[in-house]
Amino acid sequence: MARHRNVRGYNYDEDFEDDDLYGQSVEDDYCISPSTAAQFIYSRRDKTPSGVEPVDEEYDTEDPKESTNRQLSGLDQARLYSCLDHMREVLGEAIPEQMMIDAVLRSNFDVEKALEVVLEQDRKLDLKNKSKEKVASGEMTKGKSTDSQVSRSESEIGPKVARMTISGKKQTMGFEVPGVTAEENGHSFHTPQKGPSSEDVPVAGSSVLEAEPNITPASVKKPGKSKPQIDVKAELEKRQGGKQLLNLVVIGHVDAGKSTLMGHLLYLLGNVNKRTMHKYEEESKKAGKASFAYAWVLDETGEERERGVTMDVGMTKFETKTKVITLMDAPGHKDFIPNMITGAAQADVAVLVVDASTGEFEAGFETGGQTREHGLLVRSLGVTQLVVAVNKMDQVNWQEERFQEIIGKLGQFLKQAGFKESDVAYIPTSGLSGENLITKSQSSELTKWYQGLCLLEQIDSFKSPQRATEKPFRLCVSDVFKDQGSGFCVTGKIEAGFVQTGDRLLVMPPNETCTTKGITLHDEPIDWAAAGDHVSLTLTGMDIIKVNVGCVFCDPREPIKACTRFKARILIFNIEIPITKGFPVLFHYQTVSEPATIRRLISILHKSTGEVTKKKPKLLTKGQNALVEVETQRPVALELYKDFKELGRFMLRYSGSTIAAGVVTEIKG
Ligand code: GDP
Repeated sequence: MARHRNVRGYNYDEDFEDDDLYGQSVEDDYCISPSTAAQFIYSRRDKTPSGVEPVDEEYDTEDPKESTNRQLSGLDQARLYSCLDHMREVLGEAIPEQMMIDAVLRSNFDVEKALEVVLEQDRKLDLKNKSKEKVASGEMTKGKSTDSQVSRSESEIGPKVARMTISGKKQTMGFEVPGVTAEENGHSFHTPQKGPSSEDVPVAGSSVLEAEPNITPASVKKPGKSKPQIDVKAELEKRQGGKQLLNLVVIGHVDAGKSTLMGHLLYLLGNVNKRTMHKYEEESKKAGKASFAYAWVLDETGEERERGVTMDVGMTKFETKTKVITLMDAPGHKDFIPNMITGAAQADVAVLVVDASTGEFEAGFETGGQTREHGLLVRSLGVTQLVVAVNKMDQVNWQEERFQEIIGKLGQFLKQAGFKESDVAYIPTSGLSGENLITKSQSSELTKWYQGLCLLEQIDSFKSPQRATEKPFRLCVSDVFKDQGSGFCVTGKIEAGFVQTGDRLLVMPPNETCTTKGITLHDEPIDWAAAGDHVSLTLTGMDIIKVNVGCVFCDPREPIKACTRFKARILIFNIEIPITKGFPVLFHYQTVSEPATIRRLISILHKSTGEVTKKKPKLLTKGQNALVEVETQRPVALELYKDFKELGRFMLRYSGSTIAAGVVTEIKG
């Protein structure tokens, strides 16, 4: 809601041209009866201490509308009311009325501008409050305990849900990021550091199909002489207060309870403002969807709320004992699988949510359900560690038999999909009641048969992948927008290397250079950022028109290649129509979704040895491993899988289904 951004990207219509289901409404009537809901929903009213509404005193003295009305004409009064109504829809009751009135008058009744003014003011007020608190309490401590987080002042607490631009729009919600500040993180260091050392050789991501090649530290040469050299690895450790970074995607069938589970987890961690939660409860009740209150923490767009499904990938941040987690809530609905691919491509680990209710697990698991497709997708996109939240256990009276039944069915499938048994954990949860989310359950119904970890402990115990900080810089654009001031901004995850302000960067395609004027991480300006960070870069020296979602920013000395033809090894999923020469597909790669065709069927390969079992096959069928040549309609920036795993891996979709996963073996031109 906050910032309206001028987003440009590939033609998303093409993305869905085969998916004729796209845009169709799914069943809207998800709400459970109010009486059923009531027993699960946390009631803020009971627990809210009196006088929590931290209204700024300046705005709290008289009825602001009345005093303003005296000075306005009848028509302007009407315009003012209409603007205020609109703003309240967006902002709720969180902002003092006088502040909104001032903003409307200053913006000459332009409601969009007024919203921006208010949000900017609100942000400044929050910052002011924070620094006051900081002074009062001495220094803020790192890695606060859950309790202390919960008891922090309301104005300080609230999650920020950023949106990856997949539906053609990016939003940064009007919440605050909890936890560490830039200073705490060590973002604002300026001291020149020693150059990268040879012991810092990273091993990128987790392997799917091939072993990781060695990377020579010599490959890091940052252009720009005057900039301080930094030891990225050491600085990264300092910045995160010793905590490792982990990108986590939440996947699963629509309605399995993904948003509720993670929304509730964020709430319990103190990352959601109590007032905001109350607002969601009230609004969701009004909308007849009371059971969705927690889901609304992550499902922020109006349409998502109306349809009751997640569409975009919501991104937010929380901390565990040893990790800083970037959480991506991927849409479960079939229509939005392309969005889910984008989320999963940027993830290190996944939480797979399944609905334990009678018949529901089965519905999500059978062909056509998203449990299987998501499982296969994340594995093919390089995720090797998985926690399965067997959710809605309250619906089946926490029966151990049901839990075991689900583990049995799912375990077999996940093994086939390529997950090691030791890398998959199963946890019984209830996203609605909050059981087993951030603390071990105390309920005897559960403790009598389950003594394992709770969800937060399990997330904390994931192994963080090594960041490829010493490879040449690569960032795949997930959003492009015009910000205030000169230049423009792009956002995306840094896949490799690092970037400093002042760096010159090359963009492929279109093979143009520009200069990095600013870098922000979770809305905090920083001087540098490295592999694994989701950042916004402010750029100058180039026309915004040339940059699209899917472009890759790279080090001009070691550029990524742009091509339309490449060879790839693909693994074919469960397809009905065999793949033949000239087969049309949608090529999904990082944030790119591009029409393509299978130009040549080169050979069929043995699944485990990789040996050629048949040359020039006429067709490819399900389960086969093959070498093919793919041609995309427009150039895409790619890497060989053996050099950069994350940038050499892709998915092929056809008619709304994912038909193959692949890795790039040769770039043709
Ligand atoms: P998503 O589509 O996977 O994100 O699912 P949502 O989080 O939107 O939840 C779908 C519905 O399931 C909502 O009505 C939730 O209130 C309900 N729900 C989610 N988790 C639980 C749970 O643990 N127990 C029960 N009984 N209902 C749940």
